[in-house]
Amino acid sequence: MWQLYKPMKTAYRTHTCGELRSEHKEQTVTLCGWIQRIRELKGQNFVDLRDRYGITQLVFSPQYNEILYQQSKQWNRETVLQVTGKVTERTSKNLNIPTGEIEIIAEQVNVLNPAVLPPFLIENDTDGSEELRMQYRYLDIRRPELRDNLLLRHRFTQAVRNYMDSQGFVEIETPVLIKSTPEGARDFVVPSRMNKGQFYALPQSPQTFKQLLMVAGMDKYFQIVKCFRDEDLRADRQPEFTQIDCEMSFVSQEDVLQTFEGLTKYLFKTLKNIDLPDLPRMTYSDAMRYYGSDKPDTRFDMKFVELNEVTKGFGFSVFDNAELVVGICVKGAANFTRKQLDTLTNFVKKPQIGASGLVYARIENDGSVKSSVDKFYSPEQLLQWKAKFNAQEGDLLLILCGKTDKVRKQLSELRLEVAQQLGLRDKNTYSCLWVVDFPLLEWNEEDNRWYAMHHPFTSPKQEDIQFLGTDNAKVRANAYDLVINGVEIGGGSVRIHDKMLQAKMFEVLGLSKEEAEYKFGFLMDAFEYGAPPHAGCAFGLDRWVMLFAGADSIREVMAFPKNNMGRDTMIDAPSVIDESVMKELGISIKQ
Ligand code: ASP
Repeated sequence: MWQLYKPMKTAYRTHTCGELRSEHKEQTVTLCGWIQRIRELKGQNFVDLRDRYGITQLVFSPQYNEILYQQSKQWNRETVLQVTGKVTERTSKNLNIPTGEIEIIAEQVNVLNPAVLPPFLIENDTDGSEELRMQYRYLDIRRPELRDNLLLRHRFTQAVRNYMDSQGFVEIETPVLIKSTPEGARDFVVPSRMNKGQFYALPQSPQTFKQLLMVAGMDKYFQIVKCFRDEDLRADRQPEFTQIDCEMSFVSQEDVLQTFEGLTKYLFKTLKNIDLPDLPRMTYSDAMRYYGSDKPDTRFDMKFVELNEVTKGFGFSVFDNAELVVGICVKGAANFTRKQLDTLTNFVKKPQIGASGLVYARIENDGSVKSSVDKFYSPEQLLQWKAKFNAQEGDLLLILCGKTDKVRKQLSELRLEVAQQLGLRDKNTYSCLWVVDFPLLEWNEEDNRWYAMHHPFTSPKQEDIQFLGTDNAKVRANAYDLVINGVEIGGGSVRIHDKMLQAKMFEVLGLSKEEAEYKFGFLMDAFEYGAPPHAGCAFGLDRWVMLFAGADSIREVMAFPKNNMGRDTMIDAPSVIDESVMKELGISIKQ
């Protein structure tokens, strides 16, 4: 689909390997590419020649050219060829590929470069392990799957730029060697040779710079930008990743949501041909209450139902002692076998989930309820459970209990697991929403202090400012996240532009005046010179492309990602550096 660029005739080739059709028959063409495969059939050699546009079949036959036929027996896969020949209609057409109607009868061949045998099959169905493919990433990118992901990524960034430009945004680059940015992760640092003993930090995001650009009057900024965070890696995290970073002045939260809802719709339409409906909005507190997560997967229902009223006080001590009894109703799953239910029980008991058990109840065909805790509840009491869930015959209720925050997280995991098992997390279905009204602050037990949930420049809701410093948990922020299919695609906030409020925020975060001055003095100073009200957001480009590509990891949509130890095994980085270089930089490693 992305192969339809108008290819250019060059000194080396007249067409690409994805271009020729039966309308080209009888033309003499020259193609360049890599040998994907050689097949011998009835005394002829069929060579599949590949480039990034597709595959074209070449025929070498003693009937046409004995010498070329003999040569073609010697070539390895991945040899780079330049081939001139005549386009001919195939007798047996391959309708699975766009060029399958034709083949080229080779008349002249130039071996541009021989190739050693690659360490894995360069096909979608490859035999190479991920580790091996990462080491030879340049070979892996020859595979259609990865190639298409990179092409999709290219279309995606083009579409972002088109939309942002059409809305009057200006793309401005911000520096990479900076001072620490406050996004809550560890910084990557770079020693300064000219300022010995001092370090730059790589940006975790351009947050402070884009706010300075607002002070500078560049009222609609965006940038497709690399960010760096030294965190433990997961499938959707890499030490360096790309954000679509945006900021606007003289706007309200509503303006920002509208603008980026527009971007979201535009990207869905342009890249997936999907007409997205208006994005629903859910408050953070509803998201936690009904899905146990601030990034709910809303492709399917299974909303949480709280059951304290109908489960506590009947002598079942596990429920009686719990702060919250809460469950989900799995439609039509009453026929889950004992074994399936045991598997789910084991799932919630895994240390990573940490529940102590799972209570289940089936809605039988006669409408009665059969539960795993029947001896504590009368049939009538169980019918009340059914009513709470609005459950029907054939449904299965899965119930957990415990401390509110913990049990919600556990049930959220269970909900996703069950949906996965039932095939409800279909990659071709998309469900987007805004999660709004996040708490401004979160308490950290270990450090015994408040942290900014988004970042320290996020403004509290006007009506909640009164609680700042006295009842911090109550303060909601003008902050929002875009969630697609249970993935946090990005988020942002209305910023504080008032110096006094910013100082108060630093104080609540436990930053002394000196620390605040040292870390963010430049921003505070800038705010003295007329900072406009401003707001913005940033989206994870890799994650978004991953969703559009139907990939399981952001690695699959990055050309040269790192492995989960943060290593690039292809170039072998990070690596030790010369002692002389260290000396010059004024650093030493003493073990
Ligand atoms: N800088 C924020 C982030 O990287 C996004 C924003 O608030 O604009 O998450």
